[in-house]
Amino acid sequence: MILAADIGGTTCKLGIFDPSLKLIEKWQIPTDTTDEGGNILKDIHVSFKDKLRVYNLSYEDFTGAGIGVPGPVDFEAGVVNGAINLNWYGHKDIKKDFEVLSGMPTIVDNDANLATLGEQACGAGRNKKDVVMFTLGTGVGGGVIVNNLLVHGTGGSAGEIGHIKVAVEENLKCNCGGTGCLESVASTLGLKNMAYKYQNEFEQSALDTMISSDSLNAKAIFENAEKQDPLSLYLVDKMTSYLAIGISNIAATLNPSRIILGGGVSQAGEFLLSRVLKQFRNFTFPPAVDSTEIVFASLGNDAGIYGAAKIVSQYKK
Ligand SMILES: [Zn+2]
Repeated sequence: MILAADIGGTTCKLGIFDPSLKLIEKWQIPTDTTDEGGNILKDIHVSFKDKLRVYNLSYEDFTGAGIGVPGPVDFEAGVVNGAINLNWYGHKDIKKDFEVLSGMPTIVDNDANLATLGEQACGAGRNKKDVVMFTLGTGVGGGVIVNNLLVHGTGGSAGEIGHIKVAVEENLKCNCGGTGCLESVASTLGLKNMAYKYQNEFEQSALDTMISSDSLNAKAIFENAEKQDPLSLYLVDKMTSYLAIGISNIAATLNPSRIILGGGVSQAGEFLLSRVLKQFRNFTFPPAVDSTEIVFASLGNDAGIYGAAKIVSQYKK
């Protein structure tokens, strides 16, 4: 049996899996970010213990725990280098801290990496050994799996697909401090920033009121683009071609059999995908076009706990 936790800024998603990665039960608890997030691991430990009592199980019945965190992780060491959303600053030895609390072998990885692994193991990438995921949400996250294993890179920043440079000419600021990143044009925030930048080039738009009241979101942009609002269409075309450039670069570098699109912005569905596919075929190194399939994620918010369970099954026997 395996325990899984996916720590987010507002909730921690928790799960119990059997050895074949069947989800036995999932639940969530609020994330307590007070005291510099010092209670988060304790709360998870207590919640696991309570739940195991219901099943008449104890930690001895488990091969280990997998924990996903929203920050950069040194995978070998299980150390997180800060997680702003959790009020964690500096290096935190999460693996050691949770092993001391629980006495259970623990594996820690970045949440976007684990969501990718979850989709590869049990979702939209099932039965494919080379998979890359783009998570299009408030920011742009991602993960890279080669030969069934997550790629972490030397410094742990492999798979930071949001920060590949695809839109330098836009000169829009990214959360990382740089400009030109995929995140600066293909996330909710990126779409908003492009709306502010290009609003004045269009006489009138259905987005105008939302822009002036600062209530614009990605959903509204896609909905109005479908209704042929010129500014919205312009933004969607820009966003999808930048995304296609990003996907194209990944396809030529790694030639994965599947590229998975997840996150809130991917809810735009076929309207988004048809545009991305068209540009992808235009841009991409021809031999990589036919062998790379672009699909939507299928596990939603559960991807993280599936990945947390999978990584334990890969590294702890
Ligand atoms: Zn960036």
